Amino acid sequence: MSDFKTVLLAIDLSEEAVQVANKAHSLAKNSGASLHVIHVIEPLSFAYGGDIPMDFSGIQDEIQKQAKSQLSTFSAKYDISADCQHIVIGRPETEIHAVAEELNADLVVVGSHGRHGLALLLGSTANGVLHGAGCDVLAVRVEDN
Ligand code: AMP
Repeated sequence: MSDFKTVLLAIDLSEEAVQVANKAHSLAKNSGASLHVIHVIEPLSFAYGGDIPMDFSGIQDEIQKQAKSQLSTFSAKYDISADCQHIVIGRPETEIHAVAEELNADLVVVGSHGRHGLALLLGSTANGVLHGAGCDVLAVRVEDN
């Protein structure tokens, strides 16, 4: 029995997310912790706002709708109820920290790629989550599909 009570799983909804989720799910189950899941949507305006003079709100709404539906389907496989599913808009590292704090999570689980040696052992998001986290962080090594 570990000390973890609330585990926050961060997923990017890619094919690799299942590798991260499998670890988080069994860890939460074995320690009797509640499992929450978060997906952060980066606003299109972050990437294109300054360069393309157009209104992104319609596309952004559609992206959010799709993400919500994908997260719900994904969560069902791990018995994560709707109130434990978090869709947030912003920068992944910042929002993952904020929700972890809100939930008083004692563990955040993220994926990390190890394909380019030690310097890039942690992907940029995993690295960002690790730095400044107020709780333990588990970086699950993901294999490229
Ligand atoms: P990356 O650094 O983008 O390769 O992502 C590494 C890990 O960070 C992923 O496996 C997820 O655990 C997490 N992550 C990346 N993007 C997001 C996102 N938009 N929302 C939630 N978690 C994310």
